[in-house]
Amino acid sequence: MGREKITLKTNAEILLMREAGLITGRALEAVKNVIVPGISTLELDAIAEATIESFGAKSNFKLVAGYHHTICASINDEVVHGIPSKDRILAAGDIISIDCGAITPAGWNGDAAFSFVVPGGDEAVSAKRQALSDACEASLWAGIAALATATRLNEVGRAVEKSIRNSGRYGILQDYIGHGVGRSMHEDPAVFNYQTRDLGPVVEPGLVIAIEPMITVGSEKVRVLADEWTISTKDGSDGSHWEHTVALHAGGIWVLTAEDGGEACLSVYGVKPVPVNL
Ligand code: MG
Ligand code: MG
Repeated sequence: MGREKITLKTNAEILLMREAGLITGRALEAVKNVIVPGISTLELDAIAEATIESFGAKSNFKLVAGYHHTICASINDEVVHGIPSKDRILAAGDIISIDCGAITPAGWNGDAAFSFVVPGGDEAVSAKRQALSDACEASLWAGIAALATATRLNEVGRAVEKSIRNSGRYGILQDYIGHGVGRSMHEDPAVFNYQTRDLGPVVEPGLVIAIEPMITVGSEKVRVLADEWTISTKDGSDGSHWEHTVALHAGGIWVLTAEDGGEACLSVYGVKPVPVNL
């Protein structure tokens, strides 16, 4: 981990990244607003792309070699990297995770994800899936809150893992983790969702990272499907994925992909996000 090359961002650069973050967040919000039983994941993809382009930005997922869509849409036992398709139709009670990112004309990236239980399903199944999503989301915010006071980066992973363990017996994906964000969507450092022996790099102002817990109801073991993208649980249990891009600057932390900068969700941790001032 000492070999990681972390590109710290200036306040001016963080302000530019806020644009990418807001566009990413708004694309996800637009998708969330139209999720109903019967809609296809390809329709959701088109809404995300239209939203990103309406702000003059582009999908950064489409810049990933071999990937041709704006979102990843992962249903039930799929955890991440599901490919949108006209044949993947959402049913009542499905849990879907949507991952999306935008790159601005200035070349800065945002990256965020949420899970959602499609309304109208069997009550018991939906409640279990909602609890899974809530556990994953809570761990994301616990990790973001930990970043506000962290001196070494794995304090984030420790907080994410602790939150998940406090929520129940969930599996935490081991090989899929968060990352730095900047002019590239994926940069150093690695951001683990669990405690590691190495405490990780020193946390310094200018660090911008995507924190993205990925958890399952059952085993943490996953496999890649025949499409060579979709990551699905081996035991068929449901998965959830939540993600935000977060900046740490001299004045505090700022959740770039949250419309309110993270204020509402961080308040329970006694953390108040601080926008960058030039
Ligand atoms: Mg993502
Ligand atoms: Mg990411």
